[in-house]
Amino acid sequence: MFLKREEIVKKIEKSIKKSERFIGEGELATYIPELANVDPNGFALSIVTTTGDVYDFGDIDTVFSMQSISKVISLIMALKDNTIQDVFEKVGTEPTKYKFNSLIPIDDKPSNPLINAGAITTASLIVGKDVDEKFQRVLNLVKKLSDSEKITFLKEVYSSEMETTDVNKSIAYYLRSKKIFSLNADEVLDLYIRNCSIGINASELAHLGAVLANGGSDLVTGDEMVSKEAVKIVLAQMASCGMYEESGEFLLNVGIPSKSGVSGAILGIVPGKCGICTYSPRLDESGNSIRGKNLLKILSNDLNLNIFL
Ligand code: GLU
Repeated sequence: MFLKREEIVKKIEKSIKKSERFIGEGELATYIPELANVDPNGFALSIVTTTGDVYDFGDIDTVFSMQSISKVISLIMALKDNTIQDVFEKVGTEPTKYKFNSLIPIDDKPSNPLINAGAITTASLIVGKDVDEKFQRVLNLVKKLSDSEKITFLKEVYSSEMETTDVNKSIAYYLRSKKIFSLNADEVLDLYIRNCSIGINASELAHLGAVLANGGSDLVTGDEMVSKEAVKIVLAQMASCGMYEESGEFLLNVGIPSKSGVSGAILGIVPGKCGICTYSPRLDESGNSIRGKNLLKILSNDLNLNIFL
């Protein structure tokens, strides 16, 4: 039974209403000073279906930095530029209970591509003659997948993180010492932080998710944008490792492969159905948006989106 657009909109509005009880809970990320310069109660939700229907709510024009959600793109790029075997020789596939920027989950290699050490590693696997060219390739892919030329580079966010990034710097140098890569560690880190500083809005990010939900193919033409093999890997890693050290609990409660970022956005992907982006910058201790993760749980229930049911 197919619902009419107005009926779907009403259903989603009801779910949003239920999430209002989480307004005011949690704190902004302040370790990157620029991330604290936002409206703490800003909110947006976008759902884009694989058939191209767009459902936008809230501050849909608010542009935020991708932060950790860019780790999904970095993994896609690494898989584009290298064999699967070469990528996973350098980075593992296992979840970790440690914080996203911890040095602990690097034993012989980072435990997965969706923590900082893993994404610094995938950044080292992106091909290009210099950092500018590599970043331009990343940006072009985000533009293509989100179907938007408006995707920007948020210079203030980038500079703010560059000034405060001692932990990531240690990770980059440590990885180099472990021969995970042999490139200049500062340049690899520079690319990683530029990727985190890509500016996007909820609707654009949900569109990017819808393409991945569509097996990596353009929603209109069906042309391949990301290989099916890469999509399969990326979604599996999002499901198992995408929500920091709460990934297992989130998968159990919500059942949607997702990736969150410390700017307060979460990207959820429901294979064959839709891409979802929530934006609400107040975070829990792990770095996940409190209203966002709870809204995803509510939507999963109300719209039947759990991939295991
Ligand atoms: N740029 C952030 C960092 O490296 C990304 C963290 C995140 O969103 O989880 O600390």
